[in-house]
Amino acid sequence: MAADVRRIATEEAFAVPEQFDGYRALGQSTWSSPDVVFWNRVLGNEDTRLVDGLLDLDGARIADMDANDVDVQLLLLTSPGVQIFDADTACEMAELANDRLAEAIARHPDRYAGLAAFAPQAPERAAREMERAINELHLNGFVVNSHTNGEYLDQEKFWPILEAAEALDAPIYIHPRPLPEPAIGPYLEQELWAGIWGYAAETGLHGLRLITSGVFDRFPKLKIVLGHMGEGLPFFVYRIDYMSRLLRQIGSQKRYELDPSEYLRRNFLITTSGMNHAPPLELCLKVLGPENIMWAIDYPYQHSPDAVEFMDAAPVSDDVREQIYARNAERVFGIGARAAAAGSP
Ligand code: MN
Repeated sequence: MAADVRRIATEEAFAVPEQFDGYRALGQSTWSSPDVVFWNRVLGNEDTRLVDGLLDLDGARIADMDANDVDVQLLLLTSPGVQIFDADTACEMAELANDRLAEAIARHPDRYAGLAAFAPQAPERAAREMERAINELHLNGFVVNSHTNGEYLDQEKFWPILEAAEALDAPIYIHPRPLPEPAIGPYLEQELWAGIWGYAAETGLHGLRLITSGVFDRFPKLKIVLGHMGEGLPFFVYRIDYMSRLLRQIGSQKRYELDPSEYLRRNFLITTSGMNHAPPLELCLKVLGPENIMWAIDYPYQHSPDAVEFMDAAPVSDDVREQIYARNAERVFGIGARAAAAGSP
């Protein structure tokens, strides 16, 4: 393939020290949520490579990008972001993290773009921060880590957030986090709550709830991004459409106009994060089309060479490969075209 192909990785995690201080404080409380237990374990680990990798924005991360010919990382505050804090703390943490993100991009303008955090706990203030993030910090969209206190973005209290994203013409990336308390019990046994299955169950549910709640009839231009090849939804789309028609026919679902698959193609994009596997990519190309798929690594949780080798060798035309590697991300996130040859790595 062409040696000069541009690679934009679209689900790359970072953290700020204050966020980890906040997680440590929660870890000393009696709260036993899986988010808190997980971070308590990671932050207490003698092996600090993951924590160091998340906090670093100038050293090993850029070196990893250079070593793997990754041109740009689209950065997002690592899960669960600000969503386990009280509303005031969450708002302040989101604002701080977005400022730091903008500073990192200013230090490395050709190498980073970023998705802004916001606090769903305070929807109106979140909407104001979303405006600031786009209009003043020039960030590229938003990230939310699925549910907030067991509530989902389709609920009317969160509509100011959906309205802001649509008005700003900037997508919301719904990133995984553990399922909420009422659902997670059976996943805790045998450690199934995280990336092995629970994250997809939780995040796929969030995407499907947005569809069946009808919010895309209210906000038709809203764009949602799902990682991990669409969190299972593209694979299930025939059955979802079939059952949706049945449920609408008997009147137990009647709040939306189109078949779910039509919203999936119109309002969603997916990324390849953590799914370096050709069969689901080929399925997603058929179900969603090449214009709706973007490449991702999930650095530093997963390894850059795996993602690069997968996409370099994926059974697609070079044109589709370039779409998935860069052109879709440039369009969807407003990431500027590559700088002149002298300034590129
Ligand atoms: Mn991730």
